Amino acid sequence: GTQARRKLVAGNWKMNGDMAALAELDAIAAAAALHPHVDVAICPPFTLIAPAAARTALPIGAQDCHARASGAHTGCVSAAMLVEAGARLAIVGHSERRADQHESDAEVRAKAEAVMAAGMIAILCVGETEAERDAGRAEDVVAAQLAGSVPPGAKADALVIAYEPVWAIGTGRTPTPGDVAAMHAGIRTRLRALLGPEADGVRILYGGSVKPANAAELLGLPDVDGALVGGASLKAADFVPIIAAA
Ligand code: PGA
Repeated sequence: GTQARRKLVAGNWKMNGDMAALAELDAIAAAAALHPHVDVAICPPFTLIAPAAARTALPIGAQDCHARASGAHTGCVSAAMLVEAGARLAIVGHSERRADQHESDAEVRAKAEAVMAAGMIAILCVGETEAERDAGRAEDVVAAQLAGSVPPGAKADALVIAYEPVWAIGTGRTPTPGDVAAMHAGIRTRLRALLGPEADGVRILYGGSVKPANAAELLGLPDVDGALVGGASLKAADFVPIIAAA
């Protein structure tokens, strides 16, 4: 049931931040300590993972992970490399990578498998475009992404799903609470079909323009087990109220 799932509020810094920005982690960690029922994590760029992990006890994550262990993959980073740098989780299948790097569901599944095999938590992102929602296809698109990218046999403590409608990311727009609740319930049903009873322990985050002003409403919805936060995770002044709302 819902009570068994700890809320997770994860920050995705995307291609933002520098060494000086790691000072934000101190205030975020202090807020996390005040809300021990909430898991809090930050995913900075690759170059900041090791210094972030050295600075804070907060779980630090990556924003991507290559599926292979090593080899001729210029510019890529493996799961073992992330673990050695101090990462404890990794985002896979973010819509910006599905669009910009043309990542397929099969690639996303392979990445999630690599993340989990290395002992990290995979935050696997799904979500429809605006055209897909307008065409009434949002639930079907997300169901197909889940079927293609959730690793068979995934364990609840190693898999998190992030529902991020593409049109809500960085736009200040969000779906209605009813649409979020319906999608999260649909995702739970699909996860049960894919994973069996293990699905009840998988956390389903909402992402896309989560802000202090809308966090309490979104995080209070049934089957919303936390948030994946982009822009509002860069400054503790924005991120801390979201943690408090969880
Ligand atoms: P946003 O990004 O909070 O800036 O909309 C969310 C995300 O892409 O994870």
